Amino acid sequence: MIAEQIKSAIRDIPDFPKPGIIFKDITPILKAPQLCSNIVDAFVEQLKGIRVDAIAGIESRGFLFGLTLATKLGVPFIPVRKAGKLPFTIKQKAYKLEYGTAVIELHTDAFEPGKHILIHDDLLATGGTALAASELIKEMGGEIAGFSFVVGLGFLNGKERLQPVSENLIVLAD
Ligand code: IMP
Repeated sequence: MIAEQIKSAIRDIPDFPKPGIIFKDITPILKAPQLCSNIVDAFVEQLKGIRVDAIAGIESRGFLFGLTLATKLGVPFIPVRKAGKLPFTIKQKAYKLEYGTAVIELHTDAFEPGKHILIHDDLLATGGTALAASELIKEMGGEIAGFSFVVGLGFLNGKERLQPVSENLIVLAD
């Protein structure tokens, strides 16, 4: 039911940001407060029984539901940012994109070693970004509580890449 609500709200934008790419635009979801509330409730429901000490949201759309969910669960929110954005001392991780590389960063005091961190983003495509975030968190002594996404592009097999890292893999609309 939540999957259908999400699917009917998001829209496909052809040739964005490059020709040949069909971009899933989630902004219509943000205009629907009841749907936003239902999304957070669905995450909370599916996270029952899973230890989550903090939520790491991936820039930038992972901040939207990431912070709301963290607030609802009563746990800290950690921004995972692109290179050069965080002001304090940082740890970084480079990872491969289809063309070239990208870098994500975390503050060195983002969490205490041993904490169970849930990685959150709006959309799961290849899983490369979330995988890089999980590697960075593990290098900093964290445990991966799981992954949560609002939308998944099933044909890109992101789930297969993340499942070996954690079996707690939530994709509300696949
Ligand atoms: P991945 O690393 O290939 O899984 O790509 C996921 C990242 O790219 C996430 O941070 C998404 O926000 C972003 N992304 C990729 N494709 C789309 C899309 O169609 N809509 C919205 N975000 C996307």
